[in-house]
Amino acid sequence: MKTLISLLSAMILASCTSMLDNNHFDIESRLKPYVDQFYQDAALRGVRVQHENLLVSETYSLSYKDGAAGKSYHGDIPMVRIASDLIDTGDTLKIQFVVYHELGHALLYRSHMANDDYSIMVPGDYRIADFKNPDRRKELIDELFQ
Ligand SMILES: [Zn+2]
Repeated sequence: MKTLISLLSAMILASCTSMLDNNHFDIESRLKPYVDQFYQDAALRGVRVQHENLLVSETYSLSYKDGAAGKSYHGDIPMVRIASDLIDTGDTLKIQFVVYHELGHALLYRSHMANDDYSIMVPGDYRIADFKNPDRRKELIDELFQ
């Protein structure tokens, strides 16, 4: 039994490490479209963003309902975690907003802005309505990458 357990944990460890490629770039599948779009929006604006050492995952330990839709961590490998219940809503623009906000912290080293600033980096829901308007969304994305 002990052998089985250590064999199983060896397999689990092996599968964890194999999830990471050599660039330590691992994006959870449900979040990949948003992260890809972030890189596209950066490229469109001529902004180079690191394309390695990034982990983006979803987690049930956060909930958008208590206002913690996402979280980012700095370090050798920046990490972004997005609340699973937010992704479950299927509200693609809101998910995009939260992913961009967190990647703004993790990859662009942006800090929070004041509530009346016109920025994706305003914490909370203050700019969600603007983000859902196509023209304003473009301005907000321009601001993020400027
Ligand atoms: Zn933030």
